[in-house]
Amino acid sequence: MIFLTGATGHFGKATIEFLLIKGIPAANIIGLARNEEKAKELEKYGIQFRIGDYDDVTSLIKAFQGIEKLLFISGSDVFKRDAQHVNVIDAAMEAKVPHIIYTSFFRKDDSPDSPIATIANTHINTERNIIKSGITYTFLQNALYAEAMPMFLGPDVTHTGIYTPAGDGKAPFTTRKDLAEAAANVLIQGGHENKYYKTVNIENYSFHEIARLLTELTGKEIHYMSPDPSEYKETLKKAGMPDASIAGVTGFIEGIRVGYFEADHSDLEILLGRKPAGMKEILKAYI
Ligand code: NAP
Repeated sequence: MIFLTGATGHFGKATIEFLLIKGIPAANIIGLARNEEKAKELEKYGIQFRIGDYDDVTSLIKAFQGIEKLLFISGSDVFKRDAQHVNVIDAAMEAKVPHIIYTSFFRKDDSPDSPIATIANTHINTERNIIKSGITYTFLQNALYAEAMPMFLGPDVTHTGIYTPAGDGKAPFTTRKDLAEAAANVLIQGGHENKYYKTVNIENYSFHEIARLLTELTGKEIHYMSPDPSEYKETLKKAGMPDASIAGVTGFIEGIRVGYFEADHSDLEILLGRKPAGMKEILKAYI
């Protein structure tokens, strides 16, 4: 029995779709939903659901009974998820879950003071806590989603060009769909026990390269300008962005600038059995 947390989110739904396409019977898939209303979103897949909340360890213990593989999709509340992830691991131990596949985060190293420490440290600690639990694990160290690129490119890149302080930094942006298919394959196949995978694109892309590809695809000259980070923060503030959001966005961009997301290896092609979508394909869909 395969169980997914985050089943009602983008990653969870995409993974469920791949599991079904690949022939896993709907009756063998269970999704976690926070409440009955949310569970309705899973009806169209014909899968089972159980109610539970990352904030409520008792609900998770109940939900995890009798499952074989748990796809633990990281929580979306960056301020609460440290404690929530501890709840998920505690519940998995209590319910004797044999194998956790965790959607982690690709990073260059585990230094606790990275530019995006709030995000990174949760994943680093969650990986460590899962190992400590003694439960068999597989860590999918997912790249930055290609779908998150508008956060860096701005809403109207074909008119304004790219204005983001990432310098010459590069990142292996990857579509969430490819990452979800890799997760589905890991759930279906054997041989992934106690492994870390760098689930990232096979190439790293700079914003120079992205501007060049956008120019090629649109036939319009798209420029990339990398301002001073403090000027950029000021611009976002003047545009009315809340301080917490500015800190989040600029943390990611600083991470790209200093190479924190640049990968020297990728396991994704092997997990997918094909090449992941490259930047040209990603940008075509974006435009
Ligand atoms: P998403 O669409 O926001 O889905 C998040 C899922 O987590 C939803 O199913 C949500 O349930 C569930 N959830 C949140 N809080 C919960 C709680 N207290 N108890 C139980 N379930 C809870 O995010 P996504 O696009 O699928 O991405 C999956 C995860 O990847 C995110 O949560 C985040 O950790 C991470 N992420 C990675 C990147 C990247 O670039 N690599 C970018 C964004 C996010 P509801 O439907 O009830 O809200």
